[in-house]
Amino acid sequence: MNKVDVQIPGRSYSIYIGSGNLHFLAEEIKMQKLYKNIFIIIDGNVDRYYPGILKKALGKDFKTDFFILPSGERYKSHSQLNKIYSQLIEKNFGRDTLLIAAGGGVAGDLAGFAASTYMRGVQLVHLPTTILAAVDSSVGGKTGINFYNRKNMIGTFYQPRFVLIDTDFFSTLPQAERTSGLGEVIKYAFISDKNFYDFIKNNLSSYYSIKNDVIVEIITTSVSIKAEVVTCDEKESGLRKILNFGHTFAHAIESDLKFKVKHGEAVLAGIAAALYLSNNLGILDNFKLEEFLKFLSAIRLSGKIAAFNIENLLYLMQSDKKIKGGKIKFVLLSEIGSLILDAEAEKNQILNALKKTKDFLIKNQI
Ligand code: ADP
Ligand code: ZN
Repeated sequence: MNKVDVQIPGRSYSIYIGSGNLHFLAEEIKMQKLYKNIFIIIDGNVDRYYPGILKKALGKDFKTDFFILPSGERYKSHSQLNKIYSQLIEKNFGRDTLLIAAGGGVAGDLAGFAASTYMRGVQLVHLPTTILAAVDSSVGGKTGINFYNRKNMIGTFYQPRFVLIDTDFFSTLPQAERTSGLGEVIKYAFISDKNFYDFIKNNLSSYYSIKNDVIVEIITTSVSIKAEVVTCDEKESGLRKILNFGHTFAHAIESDLKFKVKHGEAVLAGIAAALYLSNNLGILDNFKLEEFLKFLSAIRLSGKIAAFNIENLLYLMQSDKKIKGGKIKFVLLSEIGSLILDAEAEKNQILNALKKTKDFLIKNQI
């Protein structure tokens, strides 16, 4: 089992990565002397694929109750949150509660928000069951719900007691979810180093078939990169911006396509757009651009992703909540591991990069 530590003053925690890790869940709770009143928020599909798995893993030493969360982004909502609070109250869960989030980003964000607010905060453990959640949302402490038709409008920063990643869960992930996880993984490759980039490039098929040593390695490296960045910059003032590589474009694409595409797929498209824009601005040379695009073209994305409207994307990026002073700030790249934060670009350069991205995606769709 691999272990990565996230060191945030006063709230440090570990992330465990490995096959069969669920066996250690009860042990770790006891070792950390966490509360024995456990409320588990579990994704509906996870519950369907693995019936009773958590009850069995926890054994008889705990009081357990389950909340089965229907699958889908639209359930990261205020009404589900209300149901969770109501059940917690009805079932007499007090301040001495441990809340476990078992699922993808939806379960993690929603349960994290519930944990951070119920009775001014109860204990939280993340058990991510998607690759995307394992490498992204379960690390870093962001929680939230969608509100007013906007993603993550209401939320908190709240760190878990530990994160347990059991890679065995990934074997039931649909292909598209594996691609979505790959979007964030590839982002980590671009912002870190050539070794990781090459490792992913050489092990794509093992990634897709969830070959255990490859998956564990890829997830451990991704999580380590995120943990390091988050440790240095918990609340996204400086360095954490590096994690937004490809994301200014990705968020706009998701929004334009009414969130009908997967986040990681949008990130892959967003990375292509960031590479084209870097090239348009003379930051990234033609040779490297070609090489990176060739690598990206090995990943097949759904046809839906290329359907975005270029002009609307520009409008959406200008109204992104992270914009300060009216100018869109991009994270651009000159080579692997060498990023430029807060880069600005002219409207025509952005539009041109988007046009090239669209053509690239059309050429490479499934
Ligand atoms: P993310 O944001 O991490 O992609 P979501 O919470 O949106 O996560 O989950 C994506 C989809 O994957 C949902 O339909 C969810 O029910 C499903 N899912 C989560 N974990 C698994 C798993 N281990 N096997 C199969 N499907 C899963
Ligand atoms: Zn992301």
